[in-house]
Amino acid sequence: MNTLMTPSALPIAGDCDKSLAIPKHWLEAQLSGQWHDWRWQFRNRVQSYGELSAIVPDLLEKELAMRSLTDANLPFAITPYYLTLLDPCDPNDPVRLTMIPSSDELVKSPHELADPCGEDAHMPVDGLVHRYPDRVLFLLTDTCAVYCRYCTRSRVVGSHTLRPNLEEIYAYLEAHTEIRDVLLSGGDPLIFSEEKLEPIIARLRQIKHIDIIRVGTKIPIVMPQRITDSFVSMLKQYHPFYMSIHIIHPNEITPEVTTALNRLADAGIPTFSQTVLLKDINDDPQTIKTLVHALLRCRVKPYYLYQCDPVEGTGHFRTRVESGLQIIENLRGHTTGYGIPSYVIDGPGGGGKIPLSPSYVVEQDTDKWVLRNYNHQTFTYHQPDP
Ligand SMILES: *Cc1c(COP(=O)(O)O)cnc(C)c1O
Repeated sequence: MNTLMTPSALPIAGDCDKSLAIPKHWLEAQLSGQWHDWRWQFRNRVQSYGELSAIVPDLLEKELAMRSLTDANLPFAITPYYLTLLDPCDPNDPVRLTMIPSSDELVKSPHELADPCGEDAHMPVDGLVHRYPDRVLFLLTDTCAVYCRYCTRSRVVGSHTLRPNLEEIYAYLEAHTEIRDVLLSGGDPLIFSEEKLEPIIARLRQIKHIDIIRVGTKIPIVMPQRITDSFVSMLKQYHPFYMSIHIIHPNEITPEVTTALNRLADAGIPTFSQTVLLKDINDDPQTIKTLVHALLRCRVKPYYLYQCDPVEGTGHFRTRVESGLQIIENLRGHTTGYGIPSYVIDGPGGGGKIPLSPSYVVEQDTDKWVLRNYNHQTFTYHQPDP
């Protein structure tokens, strides 16, 4: 069930009558069905300001300031599908604010770092981050389908410089028998064709001590056409195979995305969400609650809510930690426990993910803990002697 995204189908807020100018070749692709082919979506990504300004009316001054893109830390790219979600009448449209480069990203704030999570220092082999005792992050590619302006890995992503030596990585994984979990990331590993991705997953499966393989991706959200029956049939041969999906806003859950997420769940691939808290985009309790409810309907378990990393040029995206805690406070007890993500800060400099929670402890003694519940009522739990 795919709807044609014509300008008249876009929502109108107030008396705003702006709409996207859908290019002729997009309309033709919609009519011919090519629109639903992920390769068409990938090939036809909008990557220049010339093309963007012909589609999105009235680009703002701070957006136009980036028209040459030479100062940007990251390239610009967006799939036609994902760009059609942009509502030109909403000044805080999540697609607009997270995808269109803005001169705000030229501002460097204090405490910002190129490599905020200290990954480069934990790379025993190029392309492999081994920070935690039993699992690794395997950076397969530096290319993505779209480029999130707040990207935590903007130092490498889109640079075309990451050339992981696969043989060296397999040798490291073979030698380190403590590694039981490999997380494929990048870049976005799902830009690879089945022919390119399957041999890598199959090779990892040959390593006996590797229990689980997972992939971190935004592709089911920005190019849901990629999640074909043939692709999930391939992935399910390598179970236990898991997926972490980057999603930031309920607007992203369209009929196309719902189909893709259901297809993953039907193939027995457990899916988890990762959301970055972003100022004026999703940093309020109601938006996150709507998002986690929509995810649960698609059988996705809300996994991590990230405080935005202090990446160079992302000050305009960062929120206060208090607002993240407020969001968790608003979920715990108020909605399905499955829907509550862990709120984490990746310790700047390489500390790994550190969980944060509102405090439910009122008082703590040798023999008892005084706790408060989600409704701010107090309860005492008596514990055994030490
Ligand atoms: C996030 C991350 C992982 C995976 O962490 P989980 O909490 O197990 O999901 C592994 N390695 C690195 C370097 C990471 O940043």
